[in-house]
Amino acid sequence: MTDPNCLFCKIASKQIPASIVFEDDQVVAFKDISPQVPVHILIVPKEHIPGLDTLTPAQAPVLGHIALVAKELARKAGLGERGWRLVANYGPDAGQTVFHLHVHLLGGAPMAGKMV
Ligand code: 5GP
Ligand code: ZN
Repeated sequence: MTDPNCLFCKIASKQIPASIVFEDDQVVAFKDISPQVPVHILIVPKEHIPGLDTLTPAQAPVLGHIALVAKELARKAGLGERGWRLVANYGPDAGQTVFHLHVHLLGGAPMAGKMV
């Protein structure tokens, strides 16, 4: 299921261009338009899921798949040894701005501002 008004659905279906670094039947990964660190990739399910708050048990396996894709992308980017971070924002307090579930893969510089 996709949402015709959703930015990340449009990127996943190639209606809007993005720098895609990985794609399979479940997910698309592309470079963030406004990178916060040298490696800043967004990994999104092809299915339109508004955010973590609406995730159903049937949809949940895609998050495990995203973790495995993140691991491979991090290794390919040379981050295997130095480390990296995954972030998924949900809702206003977390600063979610695009309402299609996405996981940020961040790395390539020390992230001094440790959140937790
Ligand atoms: P959020 O704040 O919802 O967790 O993350 C949304 C992310 O999407 C932001 O980091 C923002 O820079 C990125 N973003 C917003 N619009 C676009 C776009 O059109 N293309 C790409 N590649 N990234 C985008
Ligand atoms: Zn969407």
